[in-house]
Amino acid sequence: MSKAARCTHCGAPVTQSRRNYRYTESGLSNVVLQGVEVADCPSCGNSDVIIPRLVRIHQAIAQALANSPARLTGEQLRFLRKHLGFSGDQLGSYLHTDKTKVSKWERGEDLIGQASDRLVRLLAAALDKEMRPAIPAIAEHLPSITDDLGKNWELHVDVATLQTSFVSVSRAA
Ligand SMILES: [Zn+2]
Repeated sequence: MSKAARCTHCGAPVTQSRRNYRYTESGLSNVVLQGVEVADCPSCGNSDVIIPRLVRIHQAIAQALANSPARLTGEQLRFLRKHLGFSGDQLGSYLHTDKTKVSKWERGEDLIGQASDRLVRLLAAALDKEMRPAIPAIAEHLPSITDDLGKNWELHVDVATLQTSFVSVSRAA
């Protein structure tokens, strides 16, 4: 909050605060970043969201998804595939399937197979150097993954500490 920050839209001075921010730009509808700096412009109503250390945050999200308590959703699978830098074809070749199947999983037309779900988690950790130390914990977590289709989970990420937690939320919204 040092120098007078200005609106990127109209240039007027902004009011800065920290709050929780639903990070839909990640492609994930249920990720909430905690303690994000937001600059609100009283003149034009524009809000600038300042997300620091985006790469680290994406790594924290990928690692949390690998430890997700429930079967991966389509958008979570897509996030992990992109984190790996894989095309649908490439991921399909690791999972002994094809991009049509991968794309059906990602669009939610089909539930990801349970063995593929587990393999994707391990791949995400094994092929990202930063995540490799997490592999044993992810492997130990595999037997406790539930199908849990009746529940919605929100992933909360503290942008200061990069700590993540899954919070069960009511389905009605
Ligand atoms: Zn403005």
